[in-house]
Amino acid sequence: MSQKTSKMTALWNLVRECKKCQIASLARNKVFGDGNVSSKVMFVGEGPGMDEDSTGHPFVGNAGRILSGAMRDAGIDRDKTFITNIVRCHPCKDPLTGNGNRKPTAEEIAACKPWLIEQIMVIRPNAIVALGGTAFEGLIGSSAAGEPILNLFGDSQRMTFSNGNEIFGTQLVVVCHPQFLGYNENNPGHIRVHGYEMSYPELRAEYSEVFKRVWLWAHQ
Ligand code: SF4
Repeated sequence: MSQKTSKMTALWNLVRECKKCQIASLARNKVFGDGNVSSKVMFVGEGPGMDEDSTGHPFVGNAGRILSGAMRDAGIDRDKTFITNIVRCHPCKDPLTGNGNRKPTAEEIAACKPWLIEQIMVIRPNAIVALGGTAFEGLIGSSAAGEPILNLFGDSQRMTFSNGNEIFGTQLVVVCHPQFLGYNENNPGHIRVHGYEMSYPELRAEYSEVFKRVWLWAHQ
């Protein structure tokens, strides 16, 4: 077992026992993240939905279908990436049944971020792709000041992360959440991206282009 694999396994064992937020008690499965611990690109989403909660794996529902398709179109083998979320437990809408999806709260994000940072420290990717505004804001540690995420689509910035013992720098790239593309798959309208009108199929194609650019850059 490689050093990275054993570190990630040890981390997973700690996350399994984590009860820092109330949502842990309703989660059917914790969703730690899947993929290659030596990946040069990490993808970070918002949080597990109901499909992910019931399987314990990230992006297995409709958003996962869109994400996998965009990766395929970019020539990326999903198994060679590492995919996780800002939070590792399902933020459910109904606290009685554990059903329904909602955004994680700022408190849940803050509680879970140390686990994400430890994952980043183990993988040490050349780039992290934030899938949507919640992931982006969680990663940068502040709100994007109300800026629509599509105005930042494809932008990248240098980020450093620290777990108190070490500091690690990487490139952070932002795109919209794949679920947004899923909701608008058959939408004949247009949307403003970086101030330009784009059809939804064009946005979907640009999504893969961003993935492709990031992947090639990270593997130079
Ligand atoms: S969301 Fe994260 S911090 Fe909260 S209980 Fe789950 S693993 Fe722990």
